[in-house]
Amino acid sequence: MQIKLLIVDDEVDVCDYAKSFFEERGLKVFTSLNGEGALEIIKRDKPHIMLLDVKMKGIDGIEVLKKAKEIRPELEIIMVTAVEDEGKIAEAKNLGARDYVTKPLVLDELESTVCSLADQLGAKSRK
Ligand SMILES: [Mg+2]
Repeated sequence: MQIKLLIVDDEVDVCDYAKSFFEERGLKVFTSLNGEGALEIIKRDKPHIMLLDVKMKGIDGIEVLKKAKEIRPELEIIMVTAVEDEGKIAEAKNLGARDYVTKPLVLDELESTVCSLADQLGAKSRK
């Protein structure tokens, strides 16, 4: 099974950079620059993992997290925060987020957080 990753960030550079990084690692990648588009992709393409920016114009990452969990409870969500924002991180975890990474994105951190989760999901699907 190819793991599908949805990247949601209102900065186009972040989406492009993370997309090519994860495509090189064998994931099928979708991107959205806003929450509304992300929810459409979740319904249509059924991603397994979402990398979700907290700070976005329009509906923010916390609202997207809530709606995404209603639409697709099994979706694994990793929040992306611009700073160490402990309040938001705690809130996101209470709402079902799996983990978080901080900006600026560090490739090693992305790789260990997202790719190890993708490996786990892939292994589960093979059982
Ligand atoms: Mg942002």
